[in-house]
Amino acid sequence: MLVFKFGGASVKDADSIKNVASILSKYEDQKKLVVVSAMGKTTNALEDVVNLYIAKDQKYQDYLHEIREYHQYVCDELFGANHGVQHKVFALFDAIENFCASNISDNYTFIYDQIISVGELASSKLISEYLKHIGKDNQWLDAREMIRTDHAYTDAKILWEETEKLCLARMSNVSQMTSITQGFIGSTSERFTTTLGREGSDFSAAIFSFCLNAEKMVIWKDVEGVMNADPKQFSDAVLIKQIAFKEAIEMTYYGAKVIHPKTIRPLQNKNIPLEVRSFIASDKGGTLIHSFDEEMSYPPIIVVKEDQVLLRFSAKDFSFIAENHMEEIFGAFADLRLRMNIMQNGAISFSAAVDNKKEKIQEIVKLLEKDFSITQTESLNLLTIRHYNDNILQRELANREVWLTQKTRETIQLLCKV
Ligand code: ADP
Ligand code: ASP
Ligand code: MG
Repeated sequence: MLVFKFGGASVKDADSIKNVASILSKYEDQKKLVVVSAMGKTTNALEDVVNLYIAKDQKYQDYLHEIREYHQYVCDELFGANHGVQHKVFALFDAIENFCASNISDNYTFIYDQIISVGELASSKLISEYLKHIGKDNQWLDAREMIRTDHAYTDAKILWEETEKLCLARMSNVSQMTSITQGFIGSTSERFTTTLGREGSDFSAAIFSFCLNAEKMVIWKDVEGVMNADPKQFSDAVLIKQIAFKEAIEMTYYGAKVIHPKTIRPLQNKNIPLEVRSFIASDKGGTLIHSFDEEMSYPPIIVVKEDQVLLRFSAKDFSFIAENHMEEIFGAFADLRLRMNIMQNGAISFSAAVDNKKEKIQEIVKLLEKDFSITQTESLNLLTIRHYNDNILQRELANREVWLTQKTRETIQLLCKV
């Protein structure tokens, strides 16, 4: 069994979907589960729908209609106008409209998950129907019947044992060589839809790979493979052909956006190789992530986390920062699930940089302002360089105003003013 994952950019329009079909045709004789994201930027557009709906702004209906029209346009291109497939895709949008009209919950995260999931449901349905249309038999599978989660809407945790049983049972009834399913979504034991966090489709593919004991997982991206930096930010970025699981975990932990950070560990646990390949140049080798016996050597690897806010806490009673203060600060961050991307302790203050999530930062301030004076510094980037050397440090430090530095033998982190 192979597990493939196609992200939003690879299924953004009719031509892209035809390209996916042509990649799949090269693996005709192999059993495969194909995990797809929502088309293009659909998830962002659906987030706007959710926000309007929550604000009780009826414009949400127009926004939802636009997303529906985008899908209709792609359907028309793939199947011709008024083809029966449109009704199947529209039925999914009707279900969301009905949910919006009849919903009585005011729980933001619950509502978010029920609405946002239509992106993946629609794209997977459309792709499955297109494959049938060109004579490629396949089975559409509802990921919510296979991935069981807790109730942490928008950031649901996987219930691994149940998920494994459900995946194996569902797949044992599939006779087709190709199955199409959704990334990013799962469901609770009561069958309410949950999501696994933005960009979570890579992780979904890893969950399926783990549960189904895949021989290999391949994620098809708009880049050659994993490079030593984001090629959109660094024009001299180079492809890394082989990466050990351990290194991939570090890279993604520090924020390399090419792979979702939760993807690697399930694969490493069962020693399932992961290939990152280009859906544009699909014949090229890309990057192989696996457990390698030999010691690997890597070029300096640069990861940039943009839009950081540095929070600085000093005790209002003028005392030194001690363990009891740390307990209070860490407790608040843990409760709000706000991650500290870099932290530093001094005599009278503790500082941590976080992603610029305004609501969460406000909550942190509310929780801690009784005991601490808190300052915020915005417009910072966190640069992490693994396997750094003098040359790269000289290059990256030139013309940068560094606010905070942390260094181990392998990794240096620099919090810089933008
Ligand atoms: P998907 O469509 O699968 O969700 P993403 O957009 O999440 O794909 O990931 C691909 C993008 O990741 C690339 O377009 C590239 O700009 C970015 N990227 C960030 N860091 C790296 C890296 N080290 N190597 C390759 N691409 C990277
Ligand atoms: N569609 C979801 C998102 O945009 C999940 C994914 O693409 O990985 O976050
Ligand atoms: Mg992504």
